[in-house]
Formats: sequence, structure tokens, C-alpha cells
Amino acid sequence: MRIARAAEAAGRDAAEVRLLAVSKTWPADSVREAAAAGQCAFGENYVQEGAEKVDALAGLGLEWHFIGPLQSNKTRLVANRFVWVHSIDRLKIAERLSAQRDAHLPPLEVCIQVNVSGEASKSGVAPGELPELAHAVAGLPRLRLRGLMAIPEPTSDVALQRARFATLRQLRDQLNADGLALDTLSMGMSDDLEAAIAEGSTMVRVGTAIFGSRS
Ligand SMILES: *Cc1c(COP(=O)(O)O)cnc(C)c1O
Repeated sequence: MRIARAAEAAGRDAAEVRLLAVSKTWPADSVREAAAAGQCAFGENYVQEGAEKVDALAGLGLEWHFIGPLQSNKTRLVANRFVWVHSIDRLKIAERLSAQRDAHLPPLEVCIQVNVSGEASKSGVAPGELPELAHAVAGLPRLRLRGLMAIPEPTSDVALQRARFATLRQLRDQLNADGLALDTLSMGMSDDLEAAIAEGSTMVRVGTAIFGSRS
């Protein structure tokens, strides 16, 4: 499969790269099928749709990741249904998730989303604002900051894909040099996962290549 080949080409162990199946827009039955085939981690983009799917499939023991834009009035729907949130882009969202996370659950695993494409993309914190946000998020009691996430602008230019992913890796390495312990790079989707794995991705978020194209 593609992850194994890309890891081998990069001289990495394929076991270092987790596969997150992005099930947004697909019904609960599609998730059930993928789960029956052995996939256990799923990503959702839209709060309402994701919350309904998590509730409908409770009991299957699946691991749910929230990967989409999050507004502060929706954090309550996410804080206790999901195990991971990849799309933290400001402190207010992180503070609300931390405050709303149930005390009997383990801390919520989170990534900060970084805008590595400059003006071409609007979501994510600017690299220059990342260190302050990362240290603040790392200090919140009910969150565990695991790493960084990015969605670079779509391009078929593999050198540009790799440059964007390398930027995210370097930002992570810099934060670790400054005292954080971040082990996760959430980067790579159906069209660019090879470049992401070559640059150190530890979690690829794949929708289309698993479920087919979304209408
Ligand atoms: C939709 C989506 C994906 C998956 O994209 P594909 O191109 O279908 O693999 C990954 N990450 C995020 C944040 C998404 O919104």
C-alpha cells in the first residue's frame, strides 16, 4: 500500500506513520465497513455531522479525531466525543476544550494547525505566532499538546509539497528545542501523502483514497 511504499522510499519504518481515515460526508455504514476491515482511527471535519457519527457508532471502540474548523460555540460538542483535535488555531478554542473536557476522561490529545502556505491559505496560526500559542496550549490542564498539523495549498508540484511539509517539521523541531516534547506531525492527504511521509509525517489524513471521491 502507499504508506508502506512511501515509508520504505524515505528509509522510515511504516509503523511510524498512522493512517487516519477521513470519513467526512460518508455515512456511518461506510465507517462500519472500514472498521470491519481493520481501520480504527477516523477523522471528521464538521462538528454536527461528526458528533452524530460518533454517537451512532459508540460501542465499536473507534478512535475519533476532529480535524476541521472549530468555532468557540461548538467546542462542547467536540470536547468529550473525540480523542484528538488537530485543528487548534487560537488559544480561546484550546481553553474552552480544556475547560469542557470531562475530568474522568484522559486529557484531549491536540495538534496546532499551522498556516504553512502564507496567504494562499486562511486556516491555521501564522508561523510567527506559533511559539506563543504552543507554550500556552501546552500549559492547559486537560489538553496534551502532541504536535502540529497543516493543510498546504493543493499543488501537483512535489518539490513545493515537500517544502511546505519540511516547514512544518522544522517548526516542530524548533518547539522541541525550546522545551516542548511534540511527537506528532499530522500532514499528508490523498494527493500528497508521499511527500508528507518523506518529510516526517507521523499521521496521514486520507479520505478520497479510502472512501472514493466526495460528491
Ligand atoms: C478532507 C480532509 C482530508 C482528506 O482529504 P482527501 O484529499 O480526501 O484525502 C484531510 N484533512 C482534512 C483537514 C480534510 O478536511
